[in-house]
Amino acid sequence: MILIDGKKAAAELRAELKEEVAELKSKHNKVPGLTVILIGDLTPSQIYVRNKEKSANEVGLKSEVIKYPDSVEEKTVLEKIQELNSDETVSGILVQLPLPKHIDKQKVIEAIVPSKDVDGFHPMNVGNLSSGYESSIPCTPLGCYLLIKKIEPNLSGKKAVVVGRSNLNGKPMTQLLLKENCTVTITHSKTKDLKAECLEADIIVAAVGIPELVRGDWVKKDAIVIDVGINKTDNGIVGDVHFDEVSKNAKALTPVPGGVGPMTIACLLKNTIECFKRSQL
Ligand code: NAP
Repeated sequence: MILIDGKKAAAELRAELKEEVAELKSKHNKVPGLTVILIGDLTPSQIYVRNKEKSANEVGLKSEVIKYPDSVEEKTVLEKIQELNSDETVSGILVQLPLPKHIDKQKVIEAIVPSKDVDGFHPMNVGNLSSGYESSIPCTPLGCYLLIKKIEPNLSGKKAVVVGRSNLNGKPMTQLLLKENCTVTITHSKTKDLKAECLEADIIVAAVGIPELVRGDWVKKDAIVIDVGINKTDNGIVGDVHFDEVSKNAKALTPVPGGVGPMTIACLLKNTIECFKRSQL
C-alpha cells in the first residue's frame, strides 16, 4: 500500500511555488500578496491563520493578517473587503471561517471580488469551475486532486465516489474529477447503501466529518482512498476512513494527520500566485 505523504507533497509544492514567486518578482518587480481576515479568537482559526502566514512567508509572498474582535460589525468587514478589492498589492483575500453568528457568511464571500477569491467560494468561481472555465478552486479539493494525480496521472474512465456534498469539499471535488473524465458518484447522508457505492470505486474521497466511517470491507482492492476528515476523538485526531482496515485493501491511502491537511495550505499559496498571474495579463 502506498502511504500518500501529504507533508512531503506539500513541501515539494511549496518549493516549486517559491521558485515561481522568485521568477515573478524578477519579471514584475513585485510579489503576490495574500491578506487574511481573522475575526474572533477561536483557537483553531488562530492556528490555521498562523500556519497560513508562516507558509506564505516561506514561499516569499507578501502576507498580511487583519484581526477583528468577535464583536466587529458586518459593515466594517465588508468595507475592509472593498478596500482590499481595489488594493493593487493584494492578489488574494481570504476571510477565515467560521464567522460570528451576526455576520452573514454569504455576504462576506460575495463581497470579495472573484479575481481575488483564493478560497474559490464566490458563486462566480463555483460556476466557472462547474462550467469547466478557469477559476479559483477551493484549496482542500485542489489538494486532494493533486495527491490523486501523483498516484494516477490518467484518471480517464475511472469510477470515483465522493462521500459528502459540501460546497467546501464534496461538490468542488466532484467537478475536478469530472473534468478528468472520471465517472463520479456523489454521496451524502441520504444515500441508501454507501458501502455498495464505495465498493464500485477506483477512487474514494471521504469528506464527511464522521470518524472512521469508511471501513475496510467498503473498499475495492487497489482503490485510491483520500481521507479529508479531521475528527477529534478520545483517541486523538482521526479521519473519515478507518485507516488500519482500509490500508489492508487500498492501493494508496492518505493518513490523518499528514495527508490532505498540509496540501490545503500549500494550495492556498498556489491560488494566490494564480490570482496574481491573472491580474498581470
Ligand atoms: P460538512 O459541510 O459537514 O458536510 C458533510 C457532508 O457529509 C454532507 O454533505 C453530509 O450529507 C455528508 N454526510 C453526513 N453523514 C453522512 C453519512 N452517514 N453518509 C454519507 N454522507 C454523510 O463537512 P465538510 O466541511 O465538507 O468537512 C468534512 C470533513 O472534512 C470534516 O471532518 C472537516 O473537519 C474536514 N475538513 C478537512 C480539511 C482539511 O484541510 N483536511 C478542510 C476542510 C474540512 P448531507 O449534505 O446530506 O447533510
